[in-house]
Amino acid sequence: MISVAEALAHLFDLAQPLETEVVPLKHANGRVLVENAIARRDQPPFSASAMDGYAVRNADVTTGATFTMIGESAAGHRFDGAINAGECVRIFTGAPLPKGADRIIIQEDVTADGDKITLGDNLDSNPYVRAKGFDFKDGDVIPASKTLGPSDIALLAAMNISDVTVTRRPKVAILSTGDELVMPGEEPTEDQIIASNSFGLYAMLKDIGAEPRLLPIARDNEASLKTAFSLAEDADLLVTIGGASVGDHDLVGDVAADLGMERSFYKITMRPGKPLMAGRLSNGAMMIGLPGNPVSAMVCGKIFLEPVIRAMLGLGKAPAREFTAPLAHDVKANGPREHYTRARQENGSVSIFERQDSALLSVLAAADTLVIRPPNDPARKAGEIMRCVAI
Ligand code: AMP
Ligand code: MG
Repeated sequence: MISVAEALAHLFDLAQPLETEVVPLKHANGRVLVENAIARRDQPPFSASAMDGYAVRNADVTTGATFTMIGESAAGHRFDGAINAGECVRIFTGAPLPKGADRIIIQEDVTADGDKITLGDNLDSNPYVRAKGFDFKDGDVIPASKTLGPSDIALLAAMNISDVTVTRRPKVAILSTGDELVMPGEEPTEDQIIASNSFGLYAMLKDIGAEPRLLPIARDNEASLKTAFSLAEDADLLVTIGGASVGDHDLVGDVAADLGMERSFYKITMRPGKPLMAGRLSNGAMMIGLPGNPVSAMVCGKIFLEPVIRAMLGLGKAPAREFTAPLAHDVKANGPREHYTRARQENGSVSIFERQDSALLSVLAAADTLVIRPPNDPARKAGEIMRCVAI
């Protein structure tokens, strides 16, 4: 048996960044930028007004001063002339600042009468001018290896970048195994249960930018498993669930080996998650065999699958992000395996749930945190600082 960290290192050896593709901006949300994006213009491309008001020369501004209005500058329609002493131009937000002007008097500070305006006696001192390139300049860079979100998309659009180079989404085939499983919505017989963690993993993978696919449930026999494996041939990663212990019906490892899987490791000192398995299939794709218990599969998804997908996406090879939080209560000593306990944050500290059975999806769903207990961690007192992962 190897440790969680060793297992992750093996997984990172197997997981390589995928190739890239160019996508239109509309489809770039959630994708990983792999080439620097370079601004193609200044923003704003001209000095612009930040308010509705009157463009003037700052040198002319005193309380009660009057100006003659010589024209208008609106967004998309600049005033072509220049402003001289005692002149102003009616201006609107986003409009180019006329030549000679260097200040906007907001309309609230002005009394207008025909083509004359008179300034009030309590002027807002902000010039309300956005200088050319105030937001970004031609040639400014959005650096690669970033997952694009809505704000990035808006910035890229403003930079006049219509297509971006991103990592291809990893194709992940998810295979539930077990004679007892039916799909949600089906009518289970007395001895059957509903396949659940496959749906949780599907959601998890989708959330982090993979392209998951649920294969039909494989039954606990070689023929069914082999058929299911053959349906995953186009995947970058095959994730099997269950059938990985040493029971008579646990055939996943044997079938994978028969099909030429080169095993990297099997079994880790983790709780939940002991029967984790990984390797490379004969077609070069990765395989990860997750334990069947619903919580084990989901926790292993968080701790192993997500980092693997991030590595494939070109986001680097790093474990799940940790933070620390104080314990809300005392805990007993931990056993010999690294324990990822389901917990909840409340008022700045974490409470570990009493019930930690790896079949309890209701507890997992109530949890927002995994508190990590190292192997043989001694008893801990309330207030001690613990390593945590958000789930
Ligand atoms: P196994 O590793 O196949 O012995 O599975 C361990 C436990 O997890 C058993 O109670 C299975 O019924 C359950 N299990 C396996 N796969 C799934 C799944 N996809 N959804 C929900 N439970 C599962
Ligand atoms: Mg099974």
